[in-house]
Amino acid sequence: MRHLLLALPFALLPLVAAQGHEHGHDHDHEHSHDSLGAHEHGVASLNAALDGNLLELQLESPAMNLVGFEHAAKSDADKAKVAAAKRELEQPITLFALNSGDCKSTEVELESPLFGDADHDHDHHAHEGEHSDIHAHYRFECAKANELKQLDLAELFKRFPATEKIQVQLIGPNGQQGVELTPAQPRLSF
Ligand SMILES: [Zn+2]
Repeated sequence: MRHLLLALPFALLPLVAAQGHEHGHDHDHEHSHDSLGAHEHGVASLNAALDGNLLELQLESPAMNLVGFEHAAKSDADKAKVAAAKRELEQPITLFALNSGDCKSTEVELESPLFGDADHDHDHHAHEGEHSDIHAHYRFECAKANELKQLDLAELFKRFPATEKIQVQLIGPNGQQGVELTPAQPRLSF
């Protein structure tokens, strides 16, 4: 199935260019990374596209924000944390407060080294480095998409309090917007 977000060009908005901190290059500190780019604990990114009655969301977050650690879960306590985070992420209508618009989730994809089989993780991410991401990809069909007025991340911030800000790129009926949302300012109009 063709993914809407992949079909849409995301221009680099000023927000993206401004990601670096005033103290200089991200490469200088602990989060020196390969081509995957920046991964800063507390910060996540969300791409959102609303086209007709199709809504698509892509959340990319350090596992730290959602689970509290980034290593492969070995202990029962860690496994329970991963399972709990996964359960929350599998409820996108609640997580993204999609109460208006009569939206139904038609596709949910979660990917993370933390969700994989522990034996296989030995071969891959678990020992490669200390950082792991969680990707969540959602598609919705919204029968009354015109009633979708805003994207509201308040519930997501509440359920995952280690998430301090989410850099949002949104394409909707009013064009493209790049905005940084926080628990204090969690909403963005479509
Ligand atoms: Zn990390």
